[in-house]
Amino acid sequence: MLSRPGLSSFDYVRASTLNEASHLLKEHGEAARPLMGGTDLFARMRDGVIRPQILLDVKHLPGMREIVYDEQAGLTIGAAVTMNQAARHPDVQAHYPLLAEAANSVAAYQLRNRATLGGNLCNGSPAADTAPAVLTLEGRFVLYGPAGERELPASQFFLGPGKTALQPGELMTAIRFPAPPDGAAAKYLKLGRNKAGDLSIVGVAVFGFSDTTAPSSYRFRIGLASVAPVPLRATEAEEALAANPPDEETFALAAEKAMESASPIGDVRAGAIYRRAMVRNLTLRGLREVWEQLRKA
Ligand SMILES: Cc1cc2nc3c(=O)[nH]c(=O)nc-3n(C[C@H](O)[C@H](O)[C@H](O)COP(=O)(O)OP(=O)(O)OC[C@H]3O[C@@H](n4cnc5c(N)ncnc54)[C@H](O)[C@@H]3O)c2cc1C
Repeated sequence: MLSRPGLSSFDYVRASTLNEASHLLKEHGEAARPLMGGTDLFARMRDGVIRPQILLDVKHLPGMREIVYDEQAGLTIGAAVTMNQAARHPDVQAHYPLLAEAANSVAAYQLRNRATLGGNLCNGSPAADTAPAVLTLEGRFVLYGPAGERELPASQFFLGPGKTALQPGELMTAIRFPAPPDGAAAKYLKLGRNKAGDLSIVGVAVFGFSDTTAPSSYRFRIGLASVAPVPLRATEAEEALAANPPDEETFALAAEKAMESASPIGDVRAGAIYRRAMVRNLTLRGLREVWEQLRKA
């Protein structure tokens, strides 16, 4: 058993296969936790929030650290890919700049060398910076469990603070993204207490592209973090944007609707009223920036 000041004792187990990892997780239930970068896990253990007896290292398992891009199939990014790896990968930068931007907004450089995409998402925090990007890019999670592999849309994964759709014995192995529409534009805006790396007060991802099936000829997707029990899409705002011409009036209406979809709490970082107002402001700013990119394209 390993013992550290401030940390409860635990066994470190390096899983040999996905099957073994899944069986160990199923067998030990809450007493075992998958370990990626440990930046969330160890903080919660240190604070006594959780006391797992087994930390199951799964970072090295097949596909966990791979980034594979195909023009037709899109992007598959392993759950153990770190924030810095995602943010710097040429295919992510070229085709999914929103994901690169979101990954690069997490904490500080040193932490981004440890923190993984899978850990950020499986932690189930409403403040996860990569969640709004994953939601607006319509990512799907590859989950491996006792019954084999399944894929789940990101929109069905987040169930509440710290709660996800992961079943007993399941772990996330990868995130898949469809090929982005031609000429898409995007922006992630994060408001934090400082620029040196802190959880967001509000995070807003805006993704836009031309679409002749929409009455306005454009579609925009909006993802929000830190303003509800789960990261979410502002669907009513998105509908208003698809139905009305992309101008200042529509953007203001959509920003208002995005604010209405937020149900934040007040905490040490900011009050609820301030957070709601910032959803409106950041959404408006994001829409203007994305529209500017679309017009120039
Ligand atoms: C100083 C500091 C600053 C931070 N700033 C930010 C920030 O700006 N933005 C932000 O979003 N987050 C921030 N965080 C939180 C954290 O760093 C991120 O959420 C990080 O991405 C977690 O990844 P990890 O690899 O360290 O996960 P871990 O800590 O290893 O795991 C997190 C949780 O997910 C579970 N898990 C991990 N991998 C899997 C898997 N494959 N399948 C199933 N469950 C799994 C673990 O068991 C654990 O419960 C910060 C943390 C610290 C300590």
